[in-house]
Amino acid sequence: MTDFKYCPLCASSLAVQERDGKHRLACTNAACEYVHWDNPTPVVAAIVTQGPHVLLARARGWAADRFFLIAGFLERGEHPDDAVLREVREELGVSGHIVEFVGYYNFALRNQILFVFQVEITSDPVLGEEIVEVKRLLPADVVPWERGTGPAVRDWLERHRMRP
Ligand SMILES: [Zn+2]
Repeated sequence: MTDFKYCPLCASSLAVQERDGKHRLACTNAACEYVHWDNPTPVVAAIVTQGPHVLLARARGWAADRFFLIAGFLERGEHPDDAVLREVREELGVSGHIVEFVGYYNFALRNQILFVFQVEITSDPVLGEEIVEVKRLLPADVVPWERGTGPAVRDWLERHRMRP
């Protein structure tokens, strides 16, 4: 769940307690109402396409064979549509447009909710600090991975019948 032990409001210790039939980490001070709800964090991710190709990216520090989608957190007040285009611009150095919203996906392992889009870019990526390598694949050659954004890639490929 989480590893913090003290209430951020009153510094009393936290303990697992029942709230509305669920077990929540909550403050043990009866005068304090703090509950750690542990709500998921929204994340936007892009299946980046350029003409017939799907572009997968490898970030700095990742193993040489680890290529994934472009993804990132939202800024306060930012619409997910704007956030995904900003992430593509920041990480690939090019602007793009949303072709479709692929779907919402739970990434329970990281307590995230993923908003996945297909984003078409119109010129070649200009790699910066974060992304060190980009791989271009035909959709039929993309093998969806198990976790995180993988199920979104699988659904997108299947919906468009891009896998044999
Ligand atoms: Zn407290």
